[in-house]
Amino acid sequence: RTERVLQFTNNRHAAGNRLLLVRDITRLRQLEQMRQDFVANASHELRTPLTVLQGYLEGFSDNRDSLPPRTHRAIDQMQGQTRRMVNLVNDLMLLTRLDTVDDAGDQTAIDVAALLNGIVEDARELSGEQQHRITVEAQTAVQLWGNGSELRSAFSNLVFNAVHYTPEQGRIHLRWYEDNAGVYLAVEDSGIGIETAHIPRLTERFYRVDPGRSSATGGTGLGLAIVKHALARHDARLDIQSTPGTGSTFTCCFPRARIARAPARTASA
Ligand code: ADP
Repeated sequence: RTERVLQFTNNRHAAGNRLLLVRDITRLRQLEQMRQDFVANASHELRTPLTVLQGYLEGFSDNRDSLPPRTHRAIDQMQGQTRRMVNLVNDLMLLTRLDTVDDAGDQTAIDVAALLNGIVEDARELSGEQQHRITVEAQTAVQLWGNGSELRSAFSNLVFNAVHYTPEQGRIHLRWYEDNAGVYLAVEDSGIGIETAHIPRLTERFYRVDPGRSSATGGTGLGLAIVKHALARHDARLDIQSTPGTGSTFTCCFPRARIARAPARTASA
């Protein structure tokens, strides 16, 4: 009888613990939801005043000849800083969306080679006088089933980082290829590289190896977090290999199940 009473008590404890656990998880989910809502609302609210500021500053900048020369530097600085804030707000909004919505909406067959050519053009513009040598090599013609704008955000963040963290005239190479296990986009640079100890933390929000350098590049500190989330929504992961002083390779690894198949032709068609 004592045994049965003990067992009854144990079962009740186990059930009680399970109930507490469920309650804890529900509470955690609610808190997480509140955090996401707060970030989404705050970013949204910041957007309007920033757009107004940008508009006025553009007006000053266009008429700089009629303004005292001592204001020119201040206008440039204010324009630079507002641009940074706009980038930050946009990245925060994108990250919240990637975080809250479970699957990548609006999926189509994406011609990755064509997407990369567009991104490289933007990267060359960003590089400007730094004259990086930027090349694309599409070793496969497979298309990817996914969300074009999310994939563009992921790939362009990697390519723009390569520009930011590679000295003038350095080499940046994009390789789109496949093997038996998957399809890959490797973004390879001959830049400053990253110490091994930092690599596991790079995709954390606002994690930076060298905060001074990153803010000089105008980065938001959210780029790699966006890459990680956008890839996860495509069942893909990010692999990072780097040697300080030599360069880095960031590889997006997609499973073969993500290859977009051409629709099968029907016999009667
Ligand atoms: P940021 O806006 O600071 O560039 P990211 O999330 O894009 O933020 O990157 C996080 C950090 O990873 C950067 O601050 C930088 O230290 C490092 N990093 C990213 N890409 C590279 C690269 N190609 N070469 C060297 N370091 C890099």
